[in-house]
Amino acid sequence: MSLSRRDFLKFGTASAAGVAAGTGVDWTPVEAATTALKIKEAKAVASVCPYCAVGCGQLIFAKDGKIIDIEGHPDTPHTLGRLCPKGAATIQLSNNPLRPTKALYRAPGAEKWEEKPLEWMYEQIAKRYYDTREKYFIEKEKNKDGQEVVVNRLEAIGSLGSACIDNEECYLLSKLNRTLGIVYHEHQARV
Ligand code: SF4
Repeated sequence: MSLSRRDFLKFGTASAAGVAAGTGVDWTPVEAATTALKIKEAKAVASVCPYCAVGCGQLIFAKDGKIIDIEGHPDTPHTLGRLCPKGAATIQLSNNPLRPTKALYRAPGAEKWEEKPLEWMYEQIAKRYYDTREKYFIEKEKNKDGQEVVVNRLEAIGSLGSACIDNEECYLLSKLNRTLGIVYHEHQARV
């Protein structure tokens, strides 16, 4: 049986009305069919949402080598199968035709943005990190008693994490920043 989402809502309403009116119509198979349609014959793999430390369980459904759906895992004790809006959109990590594949760059003083390959942007970021650190790194500083102490600090770069990066990426970014001596380090964990 093939039912659209609209049909399902219509049947659901009819079912409730039918039961209420005592028609004796059993809509259970219809409801079962509609909820199974999207993931029918898909392979389910248990996983964990990658976005934050809440660690909500997920079920990833794949078919023909492609992820077709991601739902909350009902066996997760602390969520009982629920996901926050960000976790519920995890499928966009793998299937998202709108995902940018090129960087946008606006040169100093320019009015327009230009498209650049990601590799070019990686090199620019690495070069600017390096140059800025070489120029502004503070190795020693005087404390309130006038004694020179080692601080190994870099105040000329600030790091603002993205809600679109996952736990492991946050960890790596944090490690990189601390290693470089960056002290202005902030992150927006989730929506
Ligand atoms: S981002 Fe949302 S769904 Fe994912 S682990 Fe955190 S709270 Fe759970």
